Amino acid sequence: MSNPEVLVVGGGPGGAAAAYHLAAAGHDVLVAEKKEYPREKTCGDGLTPRSIHELSLMGFDFSVPEFHRVRGLRAYAGDRMLELAWPEHPVYPDWGGVIRRFDLDGRVAGLAGGQGAEVRTGTRAEPVLADGRLAAVELHSGDRVEVVHPEVVVVADGSLSRFGREIGAARDFSRPFGLAARGYYSSPRASDDHIESHLSLSDAAGANVPGYGWIFPLGDGEVNVGVGVLSTFHRWKEVNTSTLMESLEATAPGSWGLSPETATSVPRGGKLPMSLSVGPKVGPNWVLVGDAAGAINPFNGEGIAYAYETGRIAAGHVHAALAGGDLALLQGYRLELDDTYGLYYRTARAFVRAIGRPGVMRALTRTGLRSRTLMEWVLRTMANLLRPGERHIAETAYGMVERIVQIGPEP
Ligand SMILES: Cc1cc2nc3c(=O)[nH]c(=O)nc-3n(C[C@H](O)[C@H](O)[C@H](O)COP(=O)(O)OP(=O)(O)OC[C@H]3O[C@@H](n4cnc5c(N)ncnc54)[C@H](O)[C@@H]3O)c2cc1C
Repeated sequence: MSNPEVLVVGGGPGGAAAAYHLAAAGHDVLVAEKKEYPREKTCGDGLTPRSIHELSLMGFDFSVPEFHRVRGLRAYAGDRMLELAWPEHPVYPDWGGVIRRFDLDGRVAGLAGGQGAEVRTGTRAEPVLADGRLAAVELHSGDRVEVVHPEVVVVADGSLSRFGREIGAARDFSRPFGLAARGYYSSPRASDDHIESHLSLSDAAGANVPGYGWIFPLGDGEVNVGVGVLSTFHRWKEVNTSTLMESLEATAPGSWGLSPETATSVPRGGKLPMSLSVGPKVGPNWVLVGDAAGAINPFNGEGIAYAYETGRIAAGHVHAALAGGDLALLQGYRLELDDTYGLYYRTARAFVRAIGRPGVMRALTRTGLRSRTLMEWVLRTMANLLRPGERHIAETAYGMVERIVQIGPEP
């Protein structure tokens, strides 16, 4: 396929989902992925019900041995603990999972291949600009360079998004982002059926840091352990994620068996572009999806589901533009993103600004963990699993936060 209708740059969750849905709609799709599968991706490897839903739409086989199913979330703040099941929801399942990205991403790219997309690994894409416009794309595979002229390019090259920046996309620095690091440990509780989060993170001086630590069981003898911090924390530039990892290792329940001796990997870190902070999302002949669009949920640092979702939503608009012979229809993608996530992410930004003050975070976690009802609502809000139209306490409270955010200044 030397001149595909659609070129997808990057074969992570965002690119694979866009390719899957476009190929399923009958388009010629070429995915350029610079690495070879299976490949490492620094991640917590945690899948919420939203990710499970998207994977189900693509026919993912959850019976593969690498996939570990989980029933809910266990939250700790100091010595207080609450175990919460994933909620019932009309759209999303009441279960989640953990699977190494090493195993997940190649499989999902394979599903796109199954729909007819060509997935070319070991192939780096570089934009060719003419008068500031994306005119063609160079595909570098080893010593070979091929120039292609796709009608539309889906940019799914992850959080650094070099391709996206070269064609004119930029991050809005006023919006929050996260920094996170993760490592693997062997653990006697590797088959636990809950993911675990630790809400009282402290730095080397013992001061509270807004963010959270996690322990996600992989079901294969190991757990994924990590920490994430938000840029809204006034001292976030001083935060050292390695120190936070050591602190989590030392303070997590001993039953996990976390210690320098049980670590099986060196911790690796990465950036979390949040709240759809990169734009424009649509150019004359391109769209941004996943981390390249800054799609991570600021409430919980989850990005896999949002990469799948934005990939699928973008595919719908690329299909409409190609079928209608009018690339101006790509703008519908931007509008649907605003519709789907605008208010929720605005609420999330207000929330993460508030918890940037360590006292607020401390007070919230201590008070919150006293009330199961409140924490169930917090879980459903943070995981974006509120039920539409339901007159339940959670929705009422969320509605109140929405109204406060709507009348307040842009956070
Ligand atoms: C430490 C950490 C922990 C996290 N934990 C979780 C978690 O538990 N759950 C969760 O939901 N999210 C988590 N996230 C976020 C999640 O990893 C991302 O949101 C998600 O990977 C975004 O998918 P993507 O497809 O947009 O980008 P990526 O997964 O980064 O994929 C981009 C792909 O593009 C390829 N590429 C890049 N440039 C080019 C190029 N020029 N040509 C060809 N190919 C290219 C890359 O090789 C890569 O395969 C975490 C992030 C970090 C840093």
